[in-house]
Amino acid sequence: MKKRPSRSMQDREKKRSRRNNQNGGKPKRTHIPWEDRLIAIRRFVEENGHASVPTKWTGTERGESNLGRWVHNMRSRKMKLAEEKITQLDDCGFVWKVLGSPFVFVENAVRRARGGEEGCIVWPFAKTRGYGQVRFRGRQHPAHRLAFTMYIDKTQSNLQCIHGPCHNRACINPRHVTWGSPTDNARDKIRDGTEQRGEKNGSAKLTETAVLSIRERFLRGGVTQTALAKEVGVSLSTIHLIVNGKRWTHLV
Ligand SMILES: [Zn+2]
Repeated sequence: MKKRPSRSMQDREKKRSRRNNQNGGKPKRTHIPWEDRLIAIRRFVEENGHASVPTKWTGTERGESNLGRWVHNMRSRKMKLAEEKITQLDDCGFVWKVLGSPFVFVENAVRRARGGEEGCIVWPFAKTRGYGQVRFRGRQHPAHRLAFTMYIDKTQSNLQCIHGPCHNRACINPRHVTWGSPTDNARDKIRDGTEQRGEKNGSAKLTETAVLSIRERFLRGGVTQTALAKEVGVSLSTIHLIVNGKRWTHLV
């Protein structure tokens, strides 16, 4: 019985013939000397301020052809490179280790936590108000929350994620995170001194007296939230939060 070639073999065959056609029957292999690569790397650093050449990057100047691919290869072949070459690349500011994507970092953190990691796993990427941010399924998530949700494998949208033992906002070790109500979180922030309350908050537009009087006047009735917002010069949503006791909660 004749055996059909497997799909992967067919694919490989197709790829090979496509490649050969492009290069007029001969596979193209141009060796670029090491010195030229160094020149290209230095030029890249000069122009971009860093040596993290993206893998798909390629240029037309001397030594630049598929430079990104070459950098990628050098990273994986570091163990086999001569000491002298490593030094030369180091002198160019060569980046040997690349951080994976933020999401991969979260996945790894979950894996490390499952493996019993006790220490903080500090977010190495950009942060918002001290918290790591990560894109997942088309949405932006706080990194510590995503890590914790993946770790316990369920989510509770009504609860916040708070840091338990370490109170380090940049830490995404799910073992350091727990569910908490917004009030728990506020209480923790006060205890840790990580929140500037009320007037001490740099972005606070209102004084404590003003907040108290807003609440009082609204409770007395006869004035709308919109009117109050206009009068004090803050947004309607701020007024809404104040009269519903969701902002400035320490003033009761
Ligand atoms: Zn921690």
